[in-house]
Amino acid sequence: MNCSICQAELKKTEYKNKIFGEDNYYCKSCDSYHIINEKDTSEYYAAEYHSKFSYNNFFSVLINKLSLVSNRTAGRFDFLSKYGNITKYLNFLEIGGTFGEFYNIAQKKNSPKLYIIVEPDKKFNRKKKNLKFENKLFENIDIQKFKDIDIILMFHVFEHIFDINGFLETLKLLKPVKFYFEVPNCTNEKVKIESLLNNPHYHHFSKKSLEILFQKHNYKLLKIETIEPQSYHPYKKIGRIRRYKLRISGKNEIFNENGIYLRGIYTI
Ligand SMILES: [Zn+2]
Repeated sequence: MNCSICQAELKKTEYKNKIFGEDNYYCKSCDSYHIINEKDTSEYYAAEYHSKFSYNNFFSVLINKLSLVSNRTAGRFDFLSKYGNITKYLNFLEIGGTFGEFYNIAQKKNSPKLYIIVEPDKKFNRKKKNLKFENKLFENIDIQKFKDIDIILMFHVFEHIFDINGFLETLKLLKPVKFYFEVPNCTNEKVKIESLLNNPHYHHFSKKSLEILFQKHNYKLLKIETIEPQSYHPYKKIGRIRRYKLRISGKNEIFNENGIYLRGIYTI
């Protein structure tokens, strides 16, 4: 069994993914973990995924939809703005964007010309002049119908894709384009265990493994960093006052080698 990133021999680990019921394999050469059999996840995503992992209740979805609180993803926008060399009035394509949390912040700061969200679940749809929903799985869309896309975004989606090599080649059909993504950082021990055991993730990346993967597909690196969120955190409770102080002062997150997320921007 060989690594889907660097082709080196994989080694079976003690970590069995509870959702897939499959073993995780480790690649020492590029420091990544993989599940080697593709599973039928359609029923899982239809029945459980959004309720289990994304939002706890209808109320929090509503609050976010209406942008009633300052957006916790502002740091993601700042990163794109700083390292992505972007202008206003761009065409965005977000894969797996639910109701458009990132759209909310892009709308405030960047006035997208068009923002397309690929999201199979219709319940997230809403009406905005420059926002369009594609209620399909990305792999069932003929992506050549997307014209003049400037930025493809994908937050916590890449690790759910089985054929990452095929996917990165498919995105080339839309070039020239910038690809902006965030995935769990599996060199962080806590994130690694969560990702390996309790999430429907096929791949678990380190910074090194992502660099090798994107280089293999001839993507050009603009920036890749390990992020530790400050104003929000999946494993730590941040008090409300502290949370808003940090957001208002723009200190949503810091770069930290052992941070919980990996964030990258590449040009294709
Ligand atoms: Zn490898």
